[in-house]
Amino acid sequence: MSKDLTRRELMRRSIAAGGLYAAGSLMPVSSMLANPAAGQSTPQAGRIPATIVDGKVVQPRRELPVLHKTSVLVVGGGPAGTAAALSAKRLGVDVTLVERYGYLGGLATGGLVLGIFPLYDRNNKQVIFGIGEEMMKKLDVLKFGIIDRNKAPIYPTIDAEAFKYVLADMVLDSGITAYLDCWGVDAIVDAKGAVRGAVFESKSGRQAILADVVIDASGDGDIYAAAGAAFEKVKSNIGLISRIGNIDEIDMAAGRGSEDPDAANKPLTGKPGSGRPSRGRVSDLNGHAGNSTPALHVNWLNMVGPMGDALDVADLTALELKHRRATWSNVEKLRQKKGNEQVYLAETAPQIGVRLSRLLEGVKKLTVPEIRSGAKFKDVIGYSGAYANAPEFQIPYGSLVPSKVENVLAAGRCISTDFEVGDITRLIPVCWVTGQAAGLAAALCIQDKCKPRNVSVAKLQNLLRQQGAYLG
Ligand SMILES: Cc1cc2nc3c(=O)[nH]c(=O)nc-3n(C[C@H](O)[C@H](O)[C@H](O)COP(=O)(O)OP(=O)(O)OC[C@H]3O[C@@H](n4cnc5c(N)ncnc54)[C@H](O)[C@@H]3O)c2cc1C
Repeated sequence: MSKDLTRRELMRRSIAAGGLYAAGSLMPVSSMLANPAAGQSTPQAGRIPATIVDGKVVQPRRELPVLHKTSVLVVGGGPAGTAAALSAKRLGVDVTLVERYGYLGGLATGGLVLGIFPLYDRNNKQVIFGIGEEMMKKLDVLKFGIIDRNKAPIYPTIDAEAFKYVLADMVLDSGITAYLDCWGVDAIVDAKGAVRGAVFESKSGRQAILADVVIDASGDGDIYAAAGAAFEKVKSNIGLISRIGNIDEIDMAAGRGSEDPDAANKPLTGKPGSGRPSRGRVSDLNGHAGNSTPALHVNWLNMVGPMGDALDVADLTALELKHRRATWSNVEKLRQKKGNEQVYLAETAPQIGVRLSRLLEGVKKLTVPEIRSGAKFKDVIGYSGAYANAPEFQIPYGSLVPSKVENVLAAGRCISTDFEVGDITRLIPVCWVTGQAAGLAAALCIQDKCKPRNVSVAKLQNLLRQQGAYLG
């Protein structure tokens, strides 16, 4: 397969493979007429399988159908991506949101990460508002949607199904174009190296979405990495969260909301619903019973897990299997305690708990000395609350903008920070902050016809305030 395939050659091969194209349609005539149940083959248009050339697997060059054209493309429908899409859409620009799974919320729903912290500064004053606060307000009016709202220093705990519902409702009512079950696999980059969209795989095959600005909210920086942006690859603790039922007999000794791996050695405040994780290793859940949730008699069970490479499918697979086995054993162990005989495993999270994988090399990298010293930034876009031993701190817009590649912004847990700061900026409320700012910045790029690095910071801050964000 030494030369590129022409469209004519592509057609010839497809016809030879049994398909004929209807005029103006990518659907083979045979597939329109065929009843798949009758067992006829329906080769997919334009698809030429990979082949083996000189012992190497080679994928032929091919033209991709354009699924959609948009102004702002958001890849990833987690806390950062949904906040980005919703905030951008409110500026009246055309927004498309793409998510690889069949629901929105990312780790906050599919990962069963139910504790929402850090929301407060050292004096227990809330410092994160904006679109995240709006989402929590919507959860608040639902029965069993959220507990422990406005009870600082206790952090709120949400219900995953309620949050899926709230996000579906907000996105459906917003006018955003959404594609679920659609996995971003590549960036589209023009001759000057600027990002022009992304390539997706779904049951419809491999398709392109063209965009003026892309927001990478995949958590793993999949799109900015594919576009050639510089990043740091990191390993982090990978856990698997679960929910257990019938736990009303259990003593729910719980700590202050913390993902600190050493949390178990620190004094506890005994407050329920604050999301303290179980200790480290795969098989080390050890009868841990978790923290309360909005659902009655149901606890969520956080897990730190061992360090792993979230960009290595073998690592992910091994951990998924071991964690699910360990969680089942943990519940069996719990049941052996007197009074816990009826405890059962309600569910393990559909998706594994990856904390950090790629950290962008941005125009500005946020560092530990800066957050410890309370650094102030001219391009502040919001705050993180106080967490573990760190005080509340400002987040600069530059941490969302890649140092080199144009037309792409990062939001959520893959922004530009050093590892220790990333361990805080990855938390849900902070992802709401960076998501909302990325969405508004992308919308400003469209309105002002500029690149993300040239966005007017004054305008961005003004818009953030108008959308209820706290900038100090
Ligand atoms: C075990 C664990 C416990 C945690 N505990 C807490 C806690 O108690 N409190 C707290 O606030 N935070 C906690 N966190 C952190 C928090 O849940 C996440 O860091 C946060 O959800 C990150 O938001 P995000 O939007 O950046 O990424 P994610 O939530 O990971 O969302 C990214 C979305 O993008 C989608 N996606 C990924 N790749 C692609 C692709 N290529 N194409 C299309 N879609 C894609 C994913 O399916 C997902 O929906 C915890 C995390 C873990 C792993």
